[in-house]
Amino acid sequence: TIPFDIKQIQTQFPALQHSDDAPRAVYLDSAATAQKPAIVIDTLRHYYSGYNANVHRGSHSLTTNATFAFEQARTTIQKFIGAASPKEIIWTRGATEALNLIAQTYARNHLQAGDEILVSEMEHHANIVPWQMVAEQTGAKVVKIPMHQNCTLNIDAYQRLLSNKTKIVAIAHITNVTGTRNPIESMIAAAHHYGAVVVVDGAQGIAHEQVDVHALDADFYVFSGHKIYAPAGIGVLYGKQALLEAMPPWHGGGKMVEKVSFSGTDYAGLPSKFEAGTPNVAGSLALAAAIEWLQSIDRQGAEQHIADLRQQALDGIKDIEGLRIIGLQAHASLFSFVVDGVHHQDIATLLDQQHIALRAGHHCAHPMLDALGLTGTLRVSLALYNDQQDVARFITALHKACDLL
Ligand code: PMP
Repeated sequence: TIPFDIKQIQTQFPALQHSDDAPRAVYLDSAATAQKPAIVIDTLRHYYSGYNANVHRGSHSLTTNATFAFEQARTTIQKFIGAASPKEIIWTRGATEALNLIAQTYARNHLQAGDEILVSEMEHHANIVPWQMVAEQTGAKVVKIPMHQNCTLNIDAYQRLLSNKTKIVAIAHITNVTGTRNPIESMIAAAHHYGAVVVVDGAQGIAHEQVDVHALDADFYVFSGHKIYAPAGIGVLYGKQALLEAMPPWHGGGKMVEKVSFSGTDYAGLPSKFEAGTPNVAGSLALAAAIEWLQSIDRQGAEQHIADLRQQALDGIKDIEGLRIIGLQAHASLFSFVVDGVHHQDIATLLDQQHIALRAGHHCAHPMLDALGLTGTLRVSLALYNDQQDVARFITALHKACDLL
């Protein structure tokens, strides 16, 4: 890998290019979705203009080539996260669909009335609502793992909540609100002590760490491609093979079967069992391309670059009257803040007028914001294509907005 070079990185992102008469937008919303490098966009174009065909069907060479590339992409994901076999990699539309799949197959089959699902208070709605739905279906109970006011989980409370009734623990690797990294290693080990299965929401974690699901001993790990520079509409469910084997299928349809007759249907093996219907082949190839691109970059240099930008931003805004950083976390690429007495949306609107794109609101984490007594925050999230000029423009714009309000 060549040393991290911001200028060289930026040229690879068509969305960041601008004409001289239009000001370049400062994109500080990468935790919502990242911009895409040319290699990812080219992969989509190349697939659709070169060898578009359905996979695992038919007998012509286009489908054979597409199937080969599709399965190669699965192997790229497997290696990227340290899974033992490509059978443990299930394509989904994203983290949300993967979490719903686990809830409606694994959980729906295993849970009984009185069982408990421990869900952390700082979860994205995607890692809360599917558990509430399956709890309603089975009579199990969703129990909150509380967090401290500094936005770290209350691990003592977690230890006390764990019991033989605990069947599932659902936790984010890194939260999307404050960038807090949860101590998932020790939380997984503690849950396993009680025979509970741990579902890790890696939607943010995957963007910031070299994930090794084997070392983590996570039972399930899910993520979306669009947060790691791939298109939306493709994501991954990792599950331990033995768990996936024992789970019933979710969606029924083509490809997930061995033999269908009106007297009964035999299901296909892994991973097809969970991939009914025509998959997002282009998305899978583009996700593999995004991962290969990421792996070609000096990640350490990139992380240092992001850390420097974050420090520049924090230093530049700390004197704004009434500004509070919420649950500041070291080493995060994002941070949330509020300005007391000013509505977050008003600030976001004034920033938008100055071509600064960031996120204002509840970040799909109502319980976390309720616990903090907030209705919303402003969130700055940085990616490896941001530069010092972006941050300087954000600082100036925020000062201007706060002076006006
Ligand atoms: N969990 C977290 C922590 C997230 O940040 C997100 C995306 N905002 C999701 C889950 C859901 O991901 P998606 O909408 O891509 O399915």
